[in-house]
Amino acid sequence: MKPTVVLVGRPNVGKSTLFNRLTRSRDALVADLPGLTRDRHYGQGRLGEKPFIVVDTGGFEPVAKEGLLSEMARQAREAIAEADVIVFLVDGRAGLAPQDKRIATMLRKEAKAPVYLAVNKAEGMREAMVTAEFHELALGDPIAISAEHGEGVRQLIEDALAKFPEPEEDEEIPDHPRVAIVGRPNVGKSTLVNRLLGEERVIAFDQPGTTRDSIEIELEKDGKLYTLIDTAGIRKRGKVWEAVEKFSVIKTLQAIERANVVILVVDADQDIGEQDAHIGGYILEAGRALVVAVNKVDAIDSDKRKDIATDLERKLHFLDFAEFHKISARHGTGIKKMLEGVDGAFAAAMAKLSTPKLTRALMAAVQAQQPPMAGRIRPKLRYAHQGGSNPPIVVIHGSATDHIKATYKRYLEGIFIKTFKLKGTPLRVELRSGA
Ligand code: GDP
Ligand code: GDP
Repeated sequence: MKPTVVLVGRPNVGKSTLFNRLTRSRDALVADLPGLTRDRHYGQGRLGEKPFIVVDTGGFEPVAKEGLLSEMARQAREAIAEADVIVFLVDGRAGLAPQDKRIATMLRKEAKAPVYLAVNKAEGMREAMVTAEFHELALGDPIAISAEHGEGVRQLIEDALAKFPEPEEDEEIPDHPRVAIVGRPNVGKSTLVNRLLGEERVIAFDQPGTTRDSIEIELEKDGKLYTLIDTAGIRKRGKVWEAVEKFSVIKTLQAIERANVVILVVDADQDIGEQDAHIGGYILEAGRALVVAVNKVDAIDSDKRKDIATDLERKLHFLDFAEFHKISARHGTGIKKMLEGVDGAFAAAMAKLSTPKLTRALMAAVQAQQPPMAGRIRPKLRYAHQGGSNPPIVVIHGSATDHIKATYKRYLEGIFIKTFKLKGTPLRVELRSGA
């Protein structure tokens, strides 16, 4: 499992700046997608050798007792409790603030993972000077960094991840999908799980050998096998299956990582919120196949359904590669179609793309629209082959490919998706110059 790095700190110390630096993808493709919120809280760490998950807890007040702040605090504390590494960020220019002390007290009491105290905005300052007053927080030696300028950040993350093993390559292609059902609290995930498991024969429980006790459940439905990845401690209670734990961001992210196909459940009876979009953004970033289940359609009038479609279209536009299925987990409506969507998404994610067909599609795409000139340089694209699955990766060889812009890459991605009729999976294009 990828280790999870959780960022904490009061507002304005530079958490989102650090988050962006840690998660920045080489081609900025994900960051550019229309509709994908800029203010993200979950991402894949890309700095250094080891992959990791980054969670930004937002600026929070640990002693907030009620309202939105307390809900934020609850979620932040949960992330802190489940973190593998905590980076506590303070502001070296503003100096030590009372709120820093409250967060430090809470961390000393509640955090089980190692805490790295990072003094941000330290560019152009002497380390000993800028860190001096933060020793008082009693969280070890403060480390001076500049999130904005990138100073000290790589070292920080390499130290923080030093004891975690190198990731292993997982090459085997599974014969049935591993499915994670995710979504924010109360959208109907456990009702859906219950609906899927309730009437079917559950084949086996699979206890994994990892630190976090997660469970995988083999399920046979209409003669097909699925492995459900548990995000919320699914247990049998009386006659029904229930999620016994509360929503957890980190369990959600880990489940997405381990899945081939994700079912993102949203509530048709509620506005699509930031949290839906954040989870959706993470699924996209992780390259997972996706089905969006718009649940509780039984609860809304037919005249309101159009508004919902518009709201979804607008707020989850960056997930337009996925099928959206209207379902009622409570009544069982739409479940069969949704599972067909899962099957289709899995097949698309694992599709074999032949080199000749890819290359022909590439040639036709280039003929229809040449890559734009970069000054006097015209990038050339010569041939394509498949470089991976789940998500499918198409590697294109040519020359001066560094000059190809994200919009043209997206154009090519669209062409391959169409050529191979891939529904329900993102596809990635990687460009290589030379040979
Ligand atoms: P957050 O509220 O903790 O997420 O903080 P932000 O990342 O939004 O940053 C707050 C402000 O601090 C912004 O104006 C950033 O540009 C600035 N900032 C962040 N990192 C640095 C840094 O390393 N040096 C300086 N000088 N400013 C920074
Ligand atoms: P979770 O937190 O995502 O696991 O959500 P739950 O499965 O616990 O459901 C939250 C609430 O929504 C419960 O009161 C459910 O009865 C209700 N609910 C779930 N699915 C449906 C549905 O399809 N229609 C309606 N009307 N309510 C539902």
